[in-house]
Amino acid sequence: MIEVQALTKRYGGTLAVDELSFSVTPGQVTGFLGPNGAGKSTTMRMIVGLDRPTAGTVTVAGRPYRDHPAPLCQVGTLLDAAAHRGRSARSHLLALAQTHGIGRRRVDEVLETVGLTAVADRRAGGFSLGMGQRLGIAAALLGDPAVVILDEPVNGLDPDGVLWLRNLLKGLAAEGRTVLVSSHLMSEMAVTAEHLVVIGRGRLLADTTVAELIARVAVGSVLVRSPHATELGDLLTAHGAALSPVGPGVFHAAGLGVERIGDLALAGGLAIHELTPRRASLEEAYMELTREAVEYR
Ligand code: ADP
Repeated sequence: MIEVQALTKRYGGTLAVDELSFSVTPGQVTGFLGPNGAGKSTTMRMIVGLDRPTAGTVTVAGRPYRDHPAPLCQVGTLLDAAAHRGRSARSHLLALAQTHGIGRRRVDEVLETVGLTAVADRRAGGFSLGMGQRLGIAAALLGDPAVVILDEPVNGLDPDGVLWLRNLLKGLAAEGRTVLVSSHLMSEMAVTAEHLVVIGRGRLLADTTVAELIARVAVGSVLVRSPHATELGDLLTAHGAALSPVGPGVFHAAGLGVERIGDLALAGGLAIHELTPRRASLEEAYMELTREAVEYR
């Protein structure tokens, strides 16, 4: 469990995090989303005591991170994947393990989990971005922590790695762990996370499930195909629909449901060849939600 309460961080004149409150519960993957500069990294750094809040509090597993006697065994983090470049993957993990009395066997285990066994004795400095991410994830898992916090772990992974990470995160959550993951890849978040915390300009925009966010924010539309597309389009527009053309005789209508469109077409004596409701994607819902909060446009 991670509990963030009225957390605020000011850097000089910049209000990076603004009275942010949310909880991250165990047993599910929680996605942490927001435009660039929204305050995600700052929040994550404050969760693990790397940055001091200007105001507010945050606890992990019931107490501030720095009060945990063996933090690696409570909270695993990937905040900056740059490992000790001169060392091998194995010796980097061994060095970390030694600070917490974690054994060699656990180091081999996490190397296996992240798929780095074959390259464990190579210098991490020669690793690709994806291999570096895997090493960072291995370090996060080293202490078998109940809470896992990963900042943009998908970055640099190839499609194989993306799928592997998705299953790993879901598996960690299914074991009852608390998993908080930031990402800017909405399509990936839509299939990995169940819960979402969305922030913009340091403030909470949404704290809800993926399904709820899509249903709440995005306006769905209906694909309409008709041999009388022009007349039908005019009729629907007159009843408040917003149309966007798709092709000859086909358009999307937003603002009216399938039943209403069907009834209007019948009343107007206009044949319909297709009516397909289209659910919005998480990306569309996210864009809608964060439109005001985007820093660089
Ligand atoms: P995100 O991770 O969502 O992209 P950040 O937490 O990195 O956002 O940044 C939030 C805001 O705080 C940005 O405006 C950023 O420029 C500012 N910021 C972050 N770290 C510092 C710092 N060490 N000093 C000054 N400003 C910072």
